[in-house]
Amino acid sequence: MEHRLNVCVCLDTDMSSVRIEVRGCVSMRNYKALLRLLARTKGLAADAQISLDLREADHLDSDVQNALGYTELGELADSSQPIRPAQPAAA
Ligand SMILES: [Zn+2]
Repeated sequence: MEHRLNVCVCLDTDMSSVRIEVRGCVSMRNYKALLRLLARTKGLAADAQISLDLREADHLDSDVQNALGYTELGELADSSQPIRPAQPAAA
């Protein structure tokens, strides 16, 4: 079975918020692609609040859950906290 990542980026018309809906499977392999997408989205709408919606994800590898700072998939469903992409360290 192929584990595919599908992502839908939903932009507010005023660009104040962006919701990234993740569907399919998030593995460590495509997790980096997800991070790149977050970084690109950040570039697209620099001042927008970006939230990562994982409720529709089929599954998350436990490594990804750890990387995101969650331990239980159930917590993801309950989480309304926006996840901000990692910022480069200040010079
Ligand atoms: Zn899968």
